[in-house]
Amino acid sequence: MNYRVLGKTGKRVSEIGLGCEFLDGLPYALCKATIDEALGYNVNILDVFMPRTEVREHIAKALGNRRKNVMIQGHIGSTDVNKQYDISRDIPTVKKYFEQMLRLYGYIDFGMMFFIDSEDDYKGIFETEFITYVQKLKQQGDIHHIGFSSHNPIMAIKVIETEVPEMMMFSINPAFDMLPVDYDVLEHLYSNDFEGDIYHGIDPKRAELYKICTQKNIGITVMKTFGSGKLLSPDHTPYAKPLTLSQCVHYALTRPAVASVLPGCRSVQEVRDVMQYFTATDTEKDYAEVISSIQNDFKGSCVYCSHCQPCPVEIDIAAVTRYYDIARLDENNIPPSMHQHYTALNTAECIECGNCEKRCPFSVPIIKNIKDAARLFG
Ligand code: SF4
Ligand code: SF4
Repeated sequence: MNYRVLGKTGKRVSEIGLGCEFLDGLPYALCKATIDEALGYNVNILDVFMPRTEVREHIAKALGNRRKNVMIQGHIGSTDVNKQYDISRDIPTVKKYFEQMLRLYGYIDFGMMFFIDSEDDYKGIFETEFITYVQKLKQQGDIHHIGFSSHNPIMAIKVIETEVPEMMMFSINPAFDMLPVDYDVLEHLYSNDFEGDIYHGIDPKRAELYKICTQKNIGITVMKTFGSGKLLSPDHTPYAKPLTLSQCVHYALTRPAVASVLPGCRSVQEVRDVMQYFTATDTEKDYAEVISSIQNDFKGSCVYCSHCQPCPVEIDIAAVTRYYDIARLDENNIPPSMHQHYTALNTAECIECGNCEKRCPFSVPIIKNIKDAARLFG
């Protein structure tokens, strides 16, 4: 297992964690076996948004004295008042559900303000007692860090600008990222098949969100990594062929600021399938050719896929472009840490052989980018 620092929280989380959604409704033995398998791979982060008592109890019992070995993302405002997954901003209801989670797990590592996708969601949290409650939970040590979950890049940026959260959970996959920002990704996912003809490269607002997260050190954990399985299916993928599990995981892990992907697994075998990512070759993880198969406006825009490697002088080209893109957000205030990261990339070694540009499926002017980045970083 590899670990990455989750933004301002400073916590090192496993690159693959476990989304526990599909444990809901499973018998205890299957729930425990799935958790045991994940922990056997040294997974150390679990997402628990489900409001139902039974699944929460199953997870607590399965963890037992291993609770201290994992970090839990627990969602504040996730309820099942109407006997189905529900969002509440009503403080007595919110408290009832969240405090049950605290009783079961003792504390919550990442207290997530649940589901901020619209202006109403935002107001329901930041213009009510909800936010006071969340901040009090942190002061009391009931939650160790404040995060939030969202599927909407505009709202996510707005929440980050409050300076309250230290991390966020966001839906990231190679279909959602291409969806124009005015589409509701969940509506698109559940009521339509992915319609490839509306995709035109990575949506600028989503790309901006990932850059802002890096700039402000907001770590990202990922949900919907496989687009509810549709990206893996020949019948539903918007691309010329389906992606593999490893390609989807790699896509998410190569977005700026992403620390961990949290796929929902419902069995030991599903955990094993996802963990094959760590033994996959670079070629097996490479998603560039699949996502370049849609009619696209990627031309000239780096998607950080590393398809251009290898470089004879070992420059990490995707990293150069990533730092360059982030630095351009605010050229006069480039954080010193970014200077350090950039300097370590040794771009001065480039011999302008052009091999990378021949390999890039998206016609990125790599040599020019390297020169422009050198000028920007001085
Ligand atoms: S330059 Fe092209 S091939 Fe290289 S990381 Fe960017 S998009 Fe991928
Ligand atoms: S042009 Fe520069 S960055 Fe590209 S492969 Fe050659 S040496 Fe590496």
